[in-house]
Amino acid sequence: MSIQERLKEIEEKIEHSCEKVGRNSGSVKIIAVTKYVSLETTKQTLDHGLIHIGENRAEGAVEKWDALHDRGIWHFIGSLQTRKVKHIIGKYEYLHSLDRLSLAEEVDKRLESGEKMKCFVQVNVSGEESKAGLSPGDVHSFIAQLSQFKGIQVVGLMTMAPFVEDPELTRPVFNQLRQLRDEVQALHLEHAPCTELSMGMSNDFTVAVEEGATFIRLGSALVGRE
Ligand SMILES: *Cc1c(COP(=O)(O)O)cnc(C)c1O
Repeated sequence: MSIQERLKEIEEKIEHSCEKVGRNSGSVKIIAVTKYVSLETTKQTLDHGLIHIGENRAEGAVEKWDALHDRGIWHFIGSLQTRKVKHIIGKYEYLHSLDRLSLAEEVDKRLESGEKMKCFVQVNVSGEESKAGLSPGDVHSFIAQLSQFKGIQVVGLMTMAPFVEDPELTRPVFNQLRQLRDEVQALHLEHAPCTELSMGMSNDFTVAVEEGATFIRLGSALVGRE
């Protein structure tokens, strides 16, 4: 199947999920996760009108970024070592994996004055040991502490659900992230508008959309694997 055919099917599924819960499908943005595919396929992805590109390796995506950066909005979705922060500053508009103060501090230090990084705080809702992110119970105090960093803007929360055969089983994870997002948003913090929810991948995005995802991150189901 071509990217175009896959995109059409995905858009129909998003539409259907939105109808089920009375959402406007325009509020769901697709991040095309291009970490498994070539520069050429990434270019085709942009040719199909997808503008949000997700990568998870700071140095691995340099070639793609150099060739295509002015055509897309770049999202860094992988775990990020503090010493690699320098590779994403000035390139990526969004960081989806903010999970510790030392990372926030390094991002803040490397930004030009007045510049801001749009960050998602990553939450390990399911509590799986293999997953990065804060425990739900630590999210409020973590976000409060981020106010000391002028360059950090918390646009939302992000999670990865456990991989399971039946995506329905991921619903409580997405629902809990949404409740946390609502709580933070209700505080009206200047540094943390927290309006967005980055959740849902190839196997579970329909459930994530039903639970309120505003950014879904799609790799294999959309651009495939090469
Ligand atoms: C790889 C990756 C994705 C996309 O995964 P697929 O299952 O291929 O859609 C989404 N989010 C993160 C954080 C990833 O690392």
